[in-house]
Amino acid sequence: MASRLAEYGFQTLLLSSGANDTLNPILRQKSLYNQVFQTSHLKHYLPTNPSRNLNNRTINTIVWNTLGGNRVNGGGVERMMINDWTSFIKATNDPSFDHHQMAKYYQMVENFTSNRPSLISTNHGHHGPIKITQVYEEDVSHLWQNVTKELNETFTYDYSGAIDYGFSFEPSSFSDGLRSWSAETYLTSAMSKYPNLKVITGATAIKLDVDETTKQIQNVLFVSTDGLFRGTARKEYILSAGTFHSPHLLILSGIGDPDILRAHQISHKTCIKTRRKESDGQRSHHYAI
Ligand SMILES: Cc1cc2nc3c(=O)[nH]c(=O)nc-3n(C[C@H](O)[C@H](O)[C@H](O)COP(=O)(O)OP(=O)(O)OC[C@H]3O[C@@H](n4cnc5c(N)ncnc54)[C@H](O)[C@@H]3O)c2cc1C
Repeated sequence: MASRLAEYGFQTLLLSSGANDTLNPILRQKSLYNQVFQTSHLKHYLPTNPSRNLNNRTINTIVWNTLGGNRVNGGGVERMMINDWTSFIKATNDPSFDHHQMAKYYQMVENFTSNRPSLISTNHGHHGPIKITQVYEEDVSHLWQNVTKELNETFTYDYSGAIDYGFSFEPSSFSDGLRSWSAETYLTSAMSKYPNLKVITGATAIKLDVDETTKQIQNVLFVSTDGLFRGTARKEYILSAGTFHSPHLLILSGIGDPDILRAHQISHKTCIKTRRKESDGQRSHHYAI
């Protein structure tokens, strides 16, 4: 997203708590993928409490702390399901989340190849930066089709088509043993290409300062090895710190469940509400805090 904003001319600052490890072979090479799990500086430390529902076991929750985030994952590439997009439309009352409409954004990302191109060529993009390969193995394919029949399930050649469930072959963002991912393909080239994009790595956002009266974010506080800093946006703050750290940062900023805030003695700002505004035929979202 940062590289797209820069491409469209916006002055963009990206704060990433992880380092730029794009040249690290552990992240690049498929054969070294297991080593990522053993490399502690690549991870956020997220201890879980023992869960009663797991017979008091704890879960080893993994969150990668690298530029480009958890995309240094297993490499499987799936789209969100049609039903999920329908839930987005219902939750936001915004029909532009229609899955046909969203497919074009997936296609912008993809440089897709397959050994069965006739079946999937129209569903995928072929000129995007992320290399994705889908390999059908004929023998295994027959095997799975038989399994599917036995289980009375569905087999599909491509989850990106009309049938996005059941059994299929998962496309992968590893091609020729090398990973293709956001930090490497989008950010690395954007950082040298766009002077209006600044990426600060090793920078952890610790609080969004909210103006008590206007309920607008005034600035973001972040720490790096160089000290404590304050960043002020002229236009928008975009929070995408992942499933765990996005709500965590909101809570540190006094936005969230009042019971949790009280338990940690954080003063409560009030909860986020989203509101839609139509102006001059342009769609814009307002996030009132
Ligand atoms: C082991 C594993 C395997 C997976 N395998 C697959 C797979 O094969 N296919 C698939 O589709 N999905 C897979 N996933 C899930 C997928 O990777 C995630 O759903 C996806 O990356 C989430 O993207 P995100 O942008 O929401 O957050 P993230 O990718 O988590 O990005 C958040 C970023 O914010 C940074 N950050 C966090 N807190 C702060 C802060 N306070 N200040 C500054 N920066 C901060 C983090 O370091 C990170 O770079 C896997 C996940 C894991 C953990």
